[in-house]
Amino acid sequence: MTSTSAAAAARATVHGYPRQGPNRELKKAIEGYWQGGVGADALRATAAELRRDTWRQLVGAGVHEVPTGDFSYYDHVLDTSVMVGAVPARHRDAVAADPLDGYFAMARGTQDVAPLEMTKWFDTNYHYLVPELGPDTVFAADSAQQVGELAEALALGAAARPVLVGPVTYLLLAKPAPGVAAGFDPLTLLDRLLPVYAEVLADLRAAGADWVQLDEPALVQDRSPAVLNAAARAYRDLGTLPDRPRLLVASYFDRLGEALPVLAKAPVEGLALDFTGAAAGNLGDLAAVGGLPGKRLVAGVVDGRNVWINDHEKSLATLGTLLGLADRVDVASSCSLLHVPLDAAAERDIDPQIARWLAFARQKTAEIVTLARGLAQGTGAIAAELVANRADLASRAGSALTHDPAVRARAAAVTDADGRRSQPYAERAAAQRAHLGLPLLPTTTIGSFPQTAELRTARADLRAGRIDAAGYEERIAAEIREVLAFQEKAGIDVLVHGEPERNDMVQYFAERLTGYLATRHGWVQSYGTRYVRPPVLAGDVSRPEPMTVRWTTYAQSLTDRPVKGMLTGPVTMLAWSFVRDDQPRAETARQVALALRDEVDDLEAAGSSVIQVDEPALRETLPLRTAARAAYLAWATEAFRLTTAGVRPDTQIHTHMCYAEFGDILAAIDDLDADVISLEAARSHMQAAAELATAGYPREVGPGVYDIHSPRVPGVAEATALLRKGLDAIPAERLWVNPDCGLKTRGWPEVRAALQNLVAAAHEVRASV
Ligand code: GLN
Ligand code: ZN
Repeated sequence: MTSTSAAAAARATVHGYPRQGPNRELKKAIEGYWQGGVGADALRATAAELRRDTWRQLVGAGVHEVPTGDFSYYDHVLDTSVMVGAVPARHRDAVAADPLDGYFAMARGTQDVAPLEMTKWFDTNYHYLVPELGPDTVFAADSAQQVGELAEALALGAAARPVLVGPVTYLLLAKPAPGVAAGFDPLTLLDRLLPVYAEVLADLRAAGADWVQLDEPALVQDRSPAVLNAAARAYRDLGTLPDRPRLLVASYFDRLGEALPVLAKAPVEGLALDFTGAAAGNLGDLAAVGGLPGKRLVAGVVDGRNVWINDHEKSLATLGTLLGLADRVDVASSCSLLHVPLDAAAERDIDPQIARWLAFARQKTAEIVTLARGLAQGTGAIAAELVANRADLASRAGSALTHDPAVRARAAAVTDADGRRSQPYAERAAAQRAHLGLPLLPTTTIGSFPQTAELRTARADLRAGRIDAAGYEERIAAEIREVLAFQEKAGIDVLVHGEPERNDMVQYFAERLTGYLATRHGWVQSYGTRYVRPPVLAGDVSRPEPMTVRWTTYAQSLTDRPVKGMLTGPVTMLAWSFVRDDQPRAETARQVALALRDEVDDLEAAGSSVIQVDEPALRETLPLRTAARAAYLAWATEAFRLTTAGVRPDTQIHTHMCYAEFGDILAAIDDLDADVISLEAARSHMQAAAELATAGYPREVGPGVYDIHSPRVPGVAEATALLRKGLDAIPAERLWVNPDCGLKTRGWPEVRAALQNLVAAAHEVRASV
């Protein structure tokens, strides 16, 4: 095919769409079902109606081929486990008794049976349920959901393409089932799994599928030759099936790299590649392998993970190059639109000037359709859209929100010295010891205390105007008094104010920093029926006034013990927001860091001797490809140091992270140069402390001795044993005693008991060292 006919055939499509509906109808129906107020049939009807509305809307917008099977009651990886019959033994009875209830039991657990483990979907904020596999796993095809949804879409007259998690990615995302040796490699099950996929493909073909998409995002990570061979084998097998639909193998989130030649050579009819962000290198890589002669290329040129309008001219240039590299080029989002909110037009409170720069799923779909039309009919056919796009991009680039000269000048003037404490750690530690006078094994908490129903009511009352600001503040002050009184009585050494004024650790600061926007309806799925509304980091960041000083000093005024100031770090402020795409993240992080640095300095000036800067997201935004990690960690740790390095040597900087696995960022943790780090360690029996010690970590460490993800209260003996284990790794002069994470999701009775036990354990161990 010549490139002109490749252009003429260009079509618009997306890989997937938000599931929740315009008013989170799906969440409400599912939660209603769990509570018993909504019957199974009503739930199914709501779900079917939402799917239908989505397809109608996509077709109406000009999308030529809609996705099916991307919908889910909870998670599409869990759906894949159902499709291949990989139901854990402990859930089989429930699934046999009632498939829907059994499905939710796998997702959420029941009183007696644990759910599947949940973890992050690549480097997004979506979580999937981890398949549990073992040498005894027997797969069996169950294509009912996929076939049913395809039939629904075809009945509407839509051209539809079922989307499945590919077999290689499915196995790479799995872990050994409980009781199976940790060394078991799920990929060894590939030969058993492929016939099941073959059966599903045949069923979909019989149901009328022309194309089927198999998602293989796991291949964008560094993979061994063995994995690449497995991928080659999988697609050779599936590609040579006698009666099958045409196959589109999709990747997203990064470059395919070494997997690109493997998939390009496979006997499948098409590839979908991401050409945005970290994946932009796919363009050069594709040319280098000689393109995809005779194949369909679905070009992900519209970013499916940010909330910004596309740069059409840039996309058209990419598409122009791609035309010479494939038989047919279609236009798509880089990945499923699941990761963005539904409709920017619903945001009535955002300044219309700024709202023009936003593109959520609905707007991105329109952009894709425009680009496909431009490709098929020539740019003359989209002249008006191009003019508008250019004007919107220009208004964004020239806006005072995105370009604050004072912020830029300050960021440009940053020197290496600004990110270095004035004294090395050993000298600081001595100064802090003298200044703080803490006992051995000091006790503290991670920041939040229970977010009680009364606090939530107070916030709702304030929003609804039932109480005024003064009334709200009095409730916050009363809570702080209670939190302080409890901690003093319990004998905790370094106190916190409890964060009662914070709705969320990122949102609270986003609401107080210039450059951030809040949305009203910008919900995205985090997991299951949990949706979050991340703030939008739209412009240059500055801090008009102190954000935490008032409540921190109030708390300090109530006690003679040190009260820890509590901030969210710059990396986490980016990771849990939608970040601007018109400058490198490193620059945005530096701006946030400088704003937070002012807060740190103000806290110190107001009398704080201990300040904690939380960075729970440091590990999560690690790039998928190892080659990109050093650069990320360099700017991320620099941003943290810039936030914290302005304080006196005798002011103690804490940081906190809350995941058990950080073995691959130990050097970066050292690079933060924080005086004290607290981390999750209770479940892993102090593994964090051991790993840090082995790496020669020289500073103070608070490995958690209270697992706050469980309602269980650890007894004194249990906490004591954990502390002694911690002492095997960290000397007593450098060991802190604290829970794994903040206490906001727990209730007061358990928190009271657990913290009293934790203090008792610290006393017991102190007496013996
Ligand atoms: N300071 C925060 C809290 O205690 C930390 C939360 C977190 O690490 N996710 O709630
Ligand atoms: Zn935490």
